[in-house]
Amino acid sequence: MHSARLPRLDLRRLIILLAMLSGLVTLSIGFYASYKVQRESLIDSTLEANRAYAAKLANSTELFFRGAQQQLSVSAESLAARFDDRTLARETDRLRRQTDSFNAVLITDAYGVVRATAPRSVRLVGQKLDSPGARQALRERRPLISSPYMSAIGELVVMISHPITAEDGTYLGYIGGAIYLKDRNILNSLLGDHFYLDGSYLYAVDRSRRLLYHPDPARLGTVVGENEVIDKVLRGESGSQRIINSQGVDMLAGYATSPASGWGVVAQRPTADTLHPLDGLMLKVLRETAPLALLTLLCIWGLARLITRPLWQLAQSASEMDAPESAERIQRIRSWYFEAAQLKRALQLGISLLHQRIGKLNLDAQTDPLTGLHNRRGLQLALEAMAAERRPFAVIALDLDHFKRINDTHGHDVGDNVIRYVAQLMTACSRGADVLCRSGGEEFLILLPEANLESALLVAERLRQSVEQDDLPDVGHITISLGIALWPYHAEHIERTLKLADGALYKAKQRGRNRSEIAEPDAPRPG
Ligand code: GH3
Ligand code: MG
Ligand code: MG
Repeated sequence: MHSARLPRLDLRRLIILLAMLSGLVTLSIGFYASYKVQRESLIDSTLEANRAYAAKLANSTELFFRGAQQQLSVSAESLAARFDDRTLARETDRLRRQTDSFNAVLITDAYGVVRATAPRSVRLVGQKLDSPGARQALRERRPLISSPYMSAIGELVVMISHPITAEDGTYLGYIGGAIYLKDRNILNSLLGDHFYLDGSYLYAVDRSRRLLYHPDPARLGTVVGENEVIDKVLRGESGSQRIINSQGVDMLAGYATSPASGWGVVAQRPTADTLHPLDGLMLKVLRETAPLALLTLLCIWGLARLITRPLWQLAQSASEMDAPESAERIQRIRSWYFEAAQLKRALQLGISLLHQRIGKLNLDAQTDPLTGLHNRRGLQLALEAMAAERRPFAVIALDLDHFKRINDTHGHDVGDNVIRYVAQLMTACSRGADVLCRSGGEEFLILLPEANLESALLVAERLRQSVEQDDLPDVGHITISLGIALWPYHAEHIERTLKLADGALYKAKQRGRNRSEIAEPDAPRPG
């Protein structure tokens, strides 16, 4: 026989699976969102810090250059009145010692020949200076900040210069302050010493992308290649941005300009260093959320059980509706919500219909269609019930006399009518508890629960006389013969008792028909 395979998945598993899935998805989304927010906030705050820092240092640089130029301007003004060697020497000394602004100070005449230097160790007096800074100062005769260049004494130098002009307008020469970029000077104490352990650092470039300050001294004076931030800073912009620097490192950079020099200051930190603390942070978030997530999943599991329980029980009962106790089991199911309640009702209705149907089928199977009395199967069930209860009974075996003749004379249909008529008479003469059975052809059995011989004989005789008296249409008078036995009086076994009743019936036929006979017991019984 083909039996449909039941699917392995049930609703409970499905719900739990669904809940777990949605829980995991929600958790992941939350985790990812929190990671993204933290990351963005870290990047933003670093960019902002670097922007503010670059702006502050650019401003300090600007102030330094203005101050330095002002110092030179005051000196140039005082020297315009007295341009003799003694005054020049004193003025360079004073400037050099008064402030930390310059590593060296020098004054030239209108032809670029050095007239005084401080410190004196810079042995240049009497020589014509031919550095780019010197040439530019002579040519342009205005306050200048030079591009960095290699000086005569082999230093990477930036020169701040101011022309010296006599009161009558004669150009006398210029006074210049040199800053040695690689030495200690006020500029790199301003910019430098900022090399944090967290990986952030600072650099400054001039207009021609040359590095004026950088934590790596080897790179001083070199020209920086393609770099978006330097492009911007040299256009005079300030702000912050994430970039890949000239070395290929992902950086968070803040930048600002010093207008006086045209220098740009960039403060930056590698993005990787900035985001490093995020790993630990997210691990912590995971640790904090894990127990709560587990608890939630547990709750979902419990709820899923609660919700699916009645449905599961209903489904289970539905698969074995023919079981006798199924109605009772369905009755016990606690269907606490609408769908389950409706299903339960439907199932109960279905089961009562099914049982009615089965009952009718059983009844049909136990009934003789011609007379409506029990057939042999119905008799068997009745006998089993009495045997189970050990309820004593009397049995009357009954057979129509000379029935073949009736059939032969009047036809089979009339014969059937006679059989039906006898059945009706039997029903009329019996009580509710009696069991009436057509055991075959024109033979019947009557079970009389709790009856003794006397009362059984009384019933048999009453029936016999009723049949005998009636005048049937077409047929006229008919008679019946009856045999009586008692269980367990006549025999221990029921089958045997029926046989004995049959034997008594045979005796009645033998003794002339239309009479009742009582069976002989198998063995005489005491009492
Ligand atoms: P006896 O007095 O010895 O019982 O004689 P009888 O003619 O009745 O003999 P028996 O009981 O052996 O005959 C039974 C007959 O009943 C045989 C058959 O033709 C007839 N018969 C059996 N079943 C039916 C039935 O369902 N309908 C009809 N019309 N006749 C039946
Ligand atoms: Mg017969
Ligand atoms: Mg007969």
